[in-house]
Order: sequence, then C-alpha cells, then structure tokens
Amino acid sequence: MKKDFPIFKRKINGKNLVYLDSGATSQKPAIVINAEKEFYENHNANINRGIHTLGDEATRMYEDTRKKVAKFINSNFKEVIFTRNATESINLVARSFLKPILKENDLILLTEMEHHANLIPWQIIAKESKAKIEYVPIDEEGLLDLDKAKKLLSKKPKIFAFTHVSNVLGTINPVKELIKIAHSYNVPVLIDGAQSVPHFKTDVKELDCDFLVFSAHKMLGPTGVGILFGKKELLEKMEVFMGGGDMIKEAYYNGFIPDEIPNKFEAGTPNIAGVVAFGKAIEYLENLEMKNVEKNDKELINYALKKLSKIKNIEIYGPKDSKLRSSLIAFNCYTNDNVLIHPHDLATILDENGIAIRAGHHCCMPLHEKLNLTATSRISFYVYTTKEDIDVFIKCLEEVNKIFNKEIEVISK
Ligand code: PMP
Repeated sequence: MKKDFPIFKRKINGKNLVYLDSGATSQKPAIVINAEKEFYENHNANINRGIHTLGDEATRMYEDTRKKVAKFINSNFKEVIFTRNATESINLVARSFLKPILKENDLILLTEMEHHANLIPWQIIAKESKAKIEYVPIDEEGLLDLDKAKKLLSKKPKIFAFTHVSNVLGTINPVKELIKIAHSYNVPVLIDGAQSVPHFKTDVKELDCDFLVFSAHKMLGPTGVGILFGKKELLEKMEVFMGGGDMIKEAYYNGFIPDEIPNKFEAGTPNIAGVVAFGKAIEYLENLEMKNVEKNDKELINYALKKLSKIKNIEIYGPKDSKLRSSLIAFNCYTNDNVLIHPHDLATILDENGIAIRAGHHCCMPLHEKLNLTATSRISFYVYTTKEDIDVFIKCLEEVNKIFNKEIEVISK
C-alpha cells in the first residue's frame, strides 16, 4: 500500500518516514496527485460557463466528483455542496441555516468534545443573537452522558451539532441514537464527520442527519476541498452564504435571484482541480472498500493500545473499550517521578527519528481544560499505516522514557 503514496520514499532526518498524523491530514496517493496535474495539463478551464470543449470537460469532471461523493455517503448529488473545508461547511450552516432564525435566549446544543471548528462558528452567531450555548458533558472515559443529552434535547435547542468521532479522545459517538432523540423533539442535527467519514461507511439516509460536514484532505484528497451534505428541503429554504458569480440565477442593479442548490452555495470559482482529484481519492477508497478501511483501523488501534499500555508511565485518554474508539490515540508520558514529558519535546525527539506525531491541544482547548491538561500527544492512523510503523514508534517512545529518567537521575544527583 505504501508504494501508492510517493511521500513514503522520503527520508526524514535520514530515517524512513513513519507518519502517525493522519488525523491532521492524510497523505495522498499518486493517482490523486497525478489527477490534479492531469487536469491542469489537459482540461483546465473554468466551470459552468464555457461554450467550449475545455469548459465542458472541466464542468463534467467537477460534477462527476459531486456524484461520486453523493454515492459515497448515499445522498442525492444536489445535496452535496463543495466548500473549502469542514470548517467552512459548519460556518455555512451557522450563517445560512441558524442565524436567520436564532433569537435571544434560544439554545444551541454542542458537546464538551468539539473541535474549535464546531465551536467557534456557533459562539459567533450566539453572541450576535444573544443566544445561549449548552454542552453535553463527557464522563471520565470520554463518553457522552446520554441522559444529560436527552435532558438538554428536551429543552428544544435550535440545533444539535456534534462530532461523530472525537479528534482527541477517539470516541465514536452513538450518532444514530442521538439523532433519533433529537428528532423526537424536532431538533435538527449537524454531524461533524471530519474524523469519521474517512474511516467508516457513512450513510446519511440511515443516520437521518440533517447536515454532515467533512474534509477531502483527511481522506486521501487534496487540501482546499470541504463537503457539506444538507437535506434538500433545508438547503432550499436556507439563506445564501457568500454572494458572487455562479450562485445566482438572475442579477439586477437592485437585487438578485439565487440559483438552485447546489450552485446557490458555491459562489466564485471553486477549487476545480482539487475537486476533480478528490474524485480519484473516493475511487481509491471504494476500491479498498470502507469495511476494509475500518477493519484495518480496528486492528491498528487494538495493536497500538496494547503496546502503549505496556509502557511505563503512560496515560491514555478516551474510552477503554477499543470498540468505542476510532483510529487515533491521545496520550501523555511521565517520568518515574511523575514529571510530564512535554508533548512538544516528545514530538521533537520522535521527529529526529523520522516519526511524525501531533502534539498540543489539537484545536480542542476547552476539552483539554476540562481534562486538566495543557497538551497531549496524539498518534493517528490511516490506510497506509502498518503495525511496523507502530513498532518503530513504540521502540522510540521507550528510548525517550529511558533518556528522560536518566537525565532526571543525573540532575537529582
Ligand atoms: N472537526 C474535527 C473533529 C476535526 O478533527 C477537524 C480537523 N482537525 C475539523 C473539524 C476541521 O477540519 P478542517 O480543518 O479540514 O476544516
């Protein structure tokens, strides 16, 4: 598999690259990289305008990806909007769906485990409308408190927006169950699928979510392409997001008539080459089959959890039951004297050995504060990750542990 990904030919500090930061962004297979090049070399033109061959080809290729995405998540292609990233998709829903109906003292419901992308857009509009935000709490294992979620949903918030998979705890939330409860109170639901859609089959009809957002770059696609799925009847009623070319049916000096969905939400020239290349990423995942992607994830998570828990002085965050976790692990390392080995120090030493991990708050500052932590280290996997990668990482982690304990011994002597 690694042979499909040119980046793995690279040496980092003279060592083979062990990439354990796929939760931040995935690596790209050659077919995706080449698709972008091929588009610029052979088909480059703007879309939806050209009465010429290249314009027609570019439009067709762009729209082909929309159809592929729709099939991938089991929706209608008109319900798939291309944005720049998951963050922009959430901002679009906040601005165009919620803001126009949000009044003083209305409630927005989120959870304590949200990424800033699913936090700040709601905080901005809540402030503007003097609305309130409440958060479904998590327990000490990083699982949502479902009883509390039910109670909060019975207050009929104007939206319930939450993540399918936490990018820190790895928790897989019981999305279907929560959507059912939300709908019993007529509460619309937005699912942040940034860490879930790349890892397991997501069927919007089966989930019955009202909105789903995700990013192409976390699932083998290029950066600069985000996806918003929205139910047709909601998208059609929603206000426009950004104004400009391509999103209008008719324009006058004194106003405009918006185009139909999906164009209504795609103002200006989009990332055409990126979207086209994303189509190849979806093909690649479909060839692998999502059930195999999920199986590989599960094997890796079990393997890594087992190996990590054998190392001395490691604290692992998130659910203990690996069945409730997706493909990432946040942890901290301590010395024998219970001194935190700072994640940034750890990540720097690992990098010297060719191993890429993430260290910091992972855009979840409130969650870190709740857990009483300033930072964590995080390893995350994807389709090209192997058990050998995890072995290299574990071996290096053991070395780091030894080095820090020796240094502390020397200092204390
Ligand atoms: N939600 C979650 C759970 C994420 O992990 C991320 C990316 N780290 C985002 C949203 C935002 O994705 P993007 O930066 O591609 O908009």
